[in-house]
Amino acid sequence: MGYDTQPKASHFVDGQYIEDTSGAVMEVVYPATGAVIARLHEATPAIIEKAITSGRRAQAEWAGMMGVERGRILRRAADIMRERNYDLSVLETHDTGKPMSETLYVDATSGADALEYFGGLAGSLTGEHVPLGGDWGYTVREPLGLCVGLGAWNYPTQIACWKGAPALACGNAMIFKPSETTPLCALKVAEILHEAGLPAGLYNVIQGAGDVGRALVGDERVDKVSLTGSVPTGKRVYASAAEGMKHVTMELGGKSPLVVFEDADLDNAVGGAILGNFYSTGQVCSNGTRVFVHKSIKEAFLKRLAERLGSAKIGDPLDETVNFGPMVSSSQRDIVLDYIAKGKAEGARLVCGGSVIAGDGFYIQPTVFADVTDDMVIAREEIFGPVMAVLDFEDEADVIARANNTEYGLSAGVFTRDISRAHRVIGQLQAGSCFINSYNDAPVELPFGGSKLSGVGRENSKTAIEHYSQLKSVYVRMGDVEAPF
Ligand code: NDP
Repeated sequence: MGYDTQPKASHFVDGQYIEDTSGAVMEVVYPATGAVIARLHEATPAIIEKAITSGRRAQAEWAGMMGVERGRILRRAADIMRERNYDLSVLETHDTGKPMSETLYVDATSGADALEYFGGLAGSLTGEHVPLGGDWGYTVREPLGLCVGLGAWNYPTQIACWKGAPALACGNAMIFKPSETTPLCALKVAEILHEAGLPAGLYNVIQGAGDVGRALVGDERVDKVSLTGSVPTGKRVYASAAEGMKHVTMELGGKSPLVVFEDADLDNAVGGAILGNFYSTGQVCSNGTRVFVHKSIKEAFLKRLAERLGSAKIGDPLDETVNFGPMVSSSQRDIVLDYIAKGKAEGARLVCGGSVIAGDGFYIQPTVFADVTDDMVIAREEIFGPVMAVLDFEDEADVIARANNTEYGLSAGVFTRDISRAHRVIGQLQAGSCFINSYNDAPVELPFGGSKLSGVGRENSKTAIEHYSQLKSVYVRMGDVEAPF
């Protein structure tokens, strides 16, 4: 392979790459070929200790800097990321298997947006003056201290930036642990931040599986944990963080509804359903995997969907004309194949796809099931792969109740030309991130996150500042103190 994916060392701590070869070996596999493209070591207790002590040391000084100075560094890092977008996209494609036709547009670019946005906000993080009769009070917005970020494997660059940018803007330090499946990209984020002038120790990246994450979350010197991952992991991490009463952000999974009414623009609705099920080979937490289609247009919808899926270009993700790549790993492919088998066994109608694609890579065909009913496993559980379930409906109130009949609440979408209905329906759907005549947009300006089991807190937007800072209240008495004795 012409492209060197092996990083200088496994971890980036206190401003430099470091290695401890006594840590267990982690092999990084390129999902398109199954080839091992890098060998890293899991963080040992010594590496974890260095990440924590350097983070705490650096944070004290960083918090004392002016916000505009912190922001300038983040915005410089955003510029470097954009300049290197091509190389970062190639690395993201190797790490995840997502095609270059995606990574060139939504990974380093989205990370750069977060760095730019929160860099811009850093100088505006103030408290307020509160008049209290003759006395008065004021609030001070303070950083939380040392934050830990734990990433999923689907968007390694984006997640590293979505967590790092607001944390750093608010004056915190961050230790980021990427998923062991995709450990490469976050190292580049750390490198770029330090090149942009970030003082050593403020953004440390250490590798490892759940054990390393557990050690970080359980350490009393850590003040906040932000996880992007599955609901079961979220429950474990939330419980562990609660032991130390730590702040948390939980961005977890979903089984989101996408409702297509009979008056929808058919091609737009089909396009939304494609984006909401097959982008990143279906490995997107907010995907609208329960597609409720009005019975009167169901067959037309399925026909148009099958036609458009027929033109998907599946293949080498480094070929920029390819728009559908492999699953991230053989184990994730097997999980998805198991769900496809369950869909068939439960009697759903296979409209297209359903099979593995022969070869060394972890490819599965884009798969659509129709005539899915609410009780089928493929309509209830998050699959996290390219499997769309199409369900029929006839009545608005009924579809809203069915859409909400899930323990998840990450996203929801509606396609209709009736603007009153669009807002009425969205108003009743229980989800944090919603879409009208669109699906899966995630600009940094809008809050992103879920309700119910899909999460706690929000990423992006001004709201994220609330999750990486806390208010100190100060009461100021102008006169004498009147004590009872
Ligand atoms: P996991 O929940 O398996 O892992 C998430 C991260 O947590 C990984 O870095 C993992 O390490 C780490 N981890 C696992 N166990 C622990 C533990 N006990 N303590 C601390 N850290 C731990 O998620 P996946 O990586 O499999 O990602 C897929 C899931 O992520 C899907 O359910 C998806 O819905 C969700 N997701 C949610 C998003 C959102 O914003 N809401 C966005 C993207 C994905 P390691 O993997 O190395 O073991």
